[in-house]
Amino acid sequence: MENDTSQGTVRPRRHVVVVGGGFGGLQVVEHLKGVGVAITLVDQRNYHLFQPLLYQVATASLTASEIAWPIRAMVHNRPEVSTVLGTATGVDVKARQLLLDDGSTISYDILVLATGARHGYFGHDDWEPFAPGLKTIEDATQMRSHILLAFEQAERESDLDRRAALLTFVVIGAGPTGVELAGTIADLARDTLPPDFRAIDTHMARVLLIEAGPHVLPGYADDLSDYARRALEQLGVEVVLGHTVTEVTAGGVKFGDQNVTASTIIWAAGVRASPAASWLGVPADRNGRILVEPDLSIPGHPEIFAVGDTISIAAPDGKPVPGIAPAAKQGGRYVASVIRSRLDGKSAPAPFQYHHDGSLAQIGKRRAVADFGWIKLRGPIAWWLWGIAHIYFLVGVRARLGVVLSWLWIHFRNQRSARLITHDPQQLDKTN
Ligand SMILES: Cc1cc2nc3c(=O)[nH]c(=O)nc-3n(C[C@H](O)[C@H](O)[C@H](O)COP(=O)(O)OP(=O)(O)OC[C@H]3O[C@@H](n4cnc5c(N)ncnc54)[C@H](O)[C@@H]3O)c2cc1C
Repeated sequence: MENDTSQGTVRPRRHVVVVGGGFGGLQVVEHLKGVGVAITLVDQRNYHLFQPLLYQVATASLTASEIAWPIRAMVHNRPEVSTVLGTATGVDVKARQLLLDDGSTISYDILVLATGARHGYFGHDDWEPFAPGLKTIEDATQMRSHILLAFEQAERESDLDRRAALLTFVVIGAGPTGVELAGTIADLARDTLPPDFRAIDTHMARVLLIEAGPHVLPGYADDLSDYARRALEQLGVEVVLGHTVTEVTAGGVKFGDQNVTASTIIWAAGVRASPAASWLGVPADRNGRILVEPDLSIPGHPEIFAVGDTISIAAPDGKPVPGIAPAAKQGGRYVASVIRSRLDGKSAPAPFQYHHDGSLAQIGKRRAVADFGWIKLRGPIAWWLWGIAHIYFLVGVRARLGVVLSWLWIHFRNQRSARLITHDPQQLDKTN
């Protein structure tokens, strides 16, 4: 343990280990600045990913480097922060050690788990190869390759049924990600691609959005959900509500009494927390999220905290805190304040309280909905707001300028610059 002499007295420098350089973990690191602790930030990837725009990489609107930044560079001016590229596989709570997949360990005084979530298939994990979800850059570039390859193969296909299947895109789950994906695929087929193909009319592409609940964008005000459904339908998306998908195969999906043959199926229906609860052997909800204490510590382990998508905690209205970036960020800031108070010998802050600032979702390239509770916006005005908000949250001037330029190009010229098939077509055929 190092010594901290920053306050004029010598005290052992505490070691805080943060696992996960996503929205929650980075906030912990940021808000521990000046606290006099040594920090190790562990992530299995060397970059922080702005997941809310991942669907734009999957649909050829943005490139990966516009929405991801090297973690090492993000903390390079913080000498007390070390970065480790490694995958956590467990925690030895007695020895206070984080276990990594290469067999090494990292000792901690305080541990913060911010390992997020992945998509969940409600017990149908066998559907994953046919209906991949969107969580990582690899997922997004593979999805992009798959979508673009479907058009390429359709161009060379003379059998009309096979051609129709290649031009059918099914998105399962009409939350913000499903709505954004379906709307953008429709835009791609109707605005961007038509002049580039000779044998096929890409307007004929069929985009289905299937949702088990009665509305698209569940959780938004009903009038905004209705607006979003109508806007999607105007883009040509077939919105299927109140139907649960009961079968997913390499050839298509089944819901109700319908079988739809489709070569591209995308899963946007559920998430499952990282296995952090099982590392600790503590209770979790049905999606694997740790049931944390009101100060976001782990029951029985005040030296371990968890934040973001890997936890379950109630908001002041009794509903679960949503798995969104602001909730992870607020959790990260809060945990840093608890650690700071403890180290300063002050009383603990009041229990964590999540404040919901609002929800935004884009529908195609010119419309969006914004629900701030006290004000609700829709249409182009909401789209501008959506754009400004997302630009604001990006990291660095270069990414902001690049994204603005890409969006303006799409908005006014219908051109998407990232139309690259970067995966081996034969491998893609095997997965879907
Ligand atoms: C496609 C998509 C669209 C979204 N759109 C929105 C949106 O529009 N608005 C919004 O507010 N939210 C959105 N979200 C949700 C939002 O991104 C998450 O709520 C937020 O990222 C959660 O932050 P987190 O810190 O808990 O986890 P993450 O940001 O996911 O970070 C987790 C980090 O932990 C690392 N990690 C995981 N496991 C390990 C391990 N074993 N060892 C080491 N490192 C590990 C990961 O590499 C990652 O860097 C979206 C999510 C997705 C997937």
